[in-house]
Amino acid sequence: MKSPITDSNSLLKLKGVGPKVAEKLLRLDIHNQQDLLFHLPLRYQDRSRIHPIGSLRPGEEKQIQGEIQLSDIKYGRQRMLLCRLTDGTGFITLRFFHFSNAQKDHLKRGTKLLCYGEVRRGKAGLEMAHPEYQFIKDNEELVLDENLSPIYPTTEGVHQLTLRNIMSQVISKLKNDELVLPGLIPDALLKNHQRLNIKEALLTIHHPPVNTQLEDLADGKHLAQQSLIVEELLAHHLSMRQLRVEMQKEKAPVLNKQTNLIEQFLIALPFKLTGAQEKVVTDINFDLEKSSPMQRLVQGDVGSGKTVVAALAMLKAIESGYQAAIMAPTELLAEQHFQNFKSWLEPLGINVIWLSGKLKTAAKREAIEKIGSVEGQVVVGTHALFQEGVEFLKLGLIVVDEQHRFGVHQRLALREKGNSEVGHPHQLIMTATPIPRTLAMTAYADLDCSVIDELPPGRIPVETVVIPESKREAIVQRVEQACHEGRQIYWVCTLIEESDLLQAQAAEDTANLLAEALSHVRVALVHGRMKAEQKEKVMSAFKAGEVDLLVATTVIEVGVDVPNASLMIIENAERLGLAQLHQLRGRVGRGSQESACVLMYHGSLSDNARSRLATMRETNDGFEIARKDLELRGPGEVLGIKQTGIMQMRIADLQRDQDLIPEVAEMANQLFQHYPDFVEPLIKRWIGRATKYITV
Ligand code: ADP
Ligand code: MG
Repeated sequence: MKSPITDSNSLLKLKGVGPKVAEKLLRLDIHNQQDLLFHLPLRYQDRSRIHPIGSLRPGEEKQIQGEIQLSDIKYGRQRMLLCRLTDGTGFITLRFFHFSNAQKDHLKRGTKLLCYGEVRRGKAGLEMAHPEYQFIKDNEELVLDENLSPIYPTTEGVHQLTLRNIMSQVISKLKNDELVLPGLIPDALLKNHQRLNIKEALLTIHHPPVNTQLEDLADGKHLAQQSLIVEELLAHHLSMRQLRVEMQKEKAPVLNKQTNLIEQFLIALPFKLTGAQEKVVTDINFDLEKSSPMQRLVQGDVGSGKTVVAALAMLKAIESGYQAAIMAPTELLAEQHFQNFKSWLEPLGINVIWLSGKLKTAAKREAIEKIGSVEGQVVVGTHALFQEGVEFLKLGLIVVDEQHRFGVHQRLALREKGNSEVGHPHQLIMTATPIPRTLAMTAYADLDCSVIDELPPGRIPVETVVIPESKREAIVQRVEQACHEGRQIYWVCTLIEESDLLQAQAAEDTANLLAEALSHVRVALVHGRMKAEQKEKVMSAFKAGEVDLLVATTVIEVGVDVPNASLMIIENAERLGLAQLHQLRGRVGRGSQESACVLMYHGSLSDNARSRLATMRETNDGFEIARKDLELRGPGEVLGIKQTGIMQMRIADLQRDQDLIPEVAEMANQLFQHYPDFVEPLIKRWIGRATKYITV
């Protein structure tokens, strides 16, 4: 640690920054002068010119000047000061709800003002509420800003003007090279891609010349911004690629032995693999025979048949004498996998072990013992699999199902599992949340990617309708009719509160009401507060056709597979996100009969909710839905990377700036090939403090 006295990068070297301000700046993640340079404006104001009052339109933020013609205190519901300002081209009312006596005395008839504020339409013409203002003395020459004025994100105790003052000091230092920010993208590359170097880009972004288009700046489309965005995306891309290079240096077990297990499995399977499944299996097999760990993401829409693909990969590990584990994000899904794998693999003489956090101590100890011995061949569980104390004897492959529920950081932490003598296990990551290729190039640049782009034959798209709660009775009748026809039905109760208890209660109430209303229908209930065995019992009864109507909470959201279910009612559908709705709806339409999904909503719909429900009605295509979801929620939410600190960007926005990603990937190739020395410093500049995760 450099001493603040000698460190020329120290904040304390700046005028107006003492230890107190420096401490407050830490809250903005500003530790030194260089950090200040990367503290970028939120938006800009144009205080470089004065607009005639007669030219103002409502909604604009403008600078004006004029003389106060009238000044008056009004007593309505609230006391306020009104000043009528004119410049000869028109007049405008300045409205102050809070004002001091001194203010009142100064803002009197004849006073000249320079004002900045938002123009609004008032009862008697245009108004500005609480404009910023300064007095103009007679004969005084006005000094206007030479650049657009940046507005910075502030923090409590550091006022905008204070911050701007501090910022302008470091910006001048950058300008005259007192503060040196080395260019980390070689000039030749910048020139090829027509990008500005970092110094030019930063100077422009902090102090754009007055002729800069404010719209370009607001949209992040200005060349200076784009240059900086490219550098930031590049840093993230490089860091993910480097992670991948690091992992490829690790040793992994070569899984290339063959017995007839896979053959037997395929013969017993009641269907043929789709072409897409076969293609993905080929990709995986190729990876598993290499001596570096596979890191492959399999994207496949809900119902595309990812489980079988996982089973085949796991069998390959078993054939070579290694263990394979599959981890699911919910108890219910893990239990279903357990049942599935047991029925598929036990006939082949393979031991399938179950491990969940909810197991009783003795059962858990037994499971853990088996996992540490030759007995534990296939292990199915929740994230309990990777908790302390669980040690695999010879783990060859980890499958992570429905990765979107885990988030990037968990995926990275997982890599450290495995036994050092055996090598790092191969990793197969499966997700039903497809992400556009360009996004994947950065967010998942550490992974290889395969797509199951075909559904098993005979699937009929689910017909979706959106119906208000007020028609509940008609829906209940529809349910009765469907039961009559021998169909099976899910009724999903959702609540905005994530509380298990409230969800469970709502589902219980609904189940009771439905059972009462539909006396001939066999109703059962499943929710997150039930014991594992209870849940499993209900699910198997439903699967066996002994239950007609399953009332459930969102615990059934992922993975649950009962092909005979062909009608789903989702209550409060307006409260759910697109990805969740798509997952839920994916529980029906798995068999060969026509299925339907009823999205029930409460009250009146917001625009966003209306748009989500319309998307659900219009398409069954997971890629299309994911695209829309990204548009409505942004990639941070969709990819589960928002809160993790990973992929948190200063200026780039994965969604908005997708178009730049191919350029970034191209630059990354060039850097790796011709300028490898720039890679580390670039990552450090942009991700610096966040790179902890690489060593998780
Ligand atoms: P998901 O990709 O959503 O995890 P699943 O693996 O649960 O999908 O598979 C959905 C359903 O499709 C299951 O009932 C499964 O047995 C069935 N299935 C998988 N592959 C095929 C196939 N090639 N032909 C017919 N049915 C298949
Ligand atoms: Mg699945």
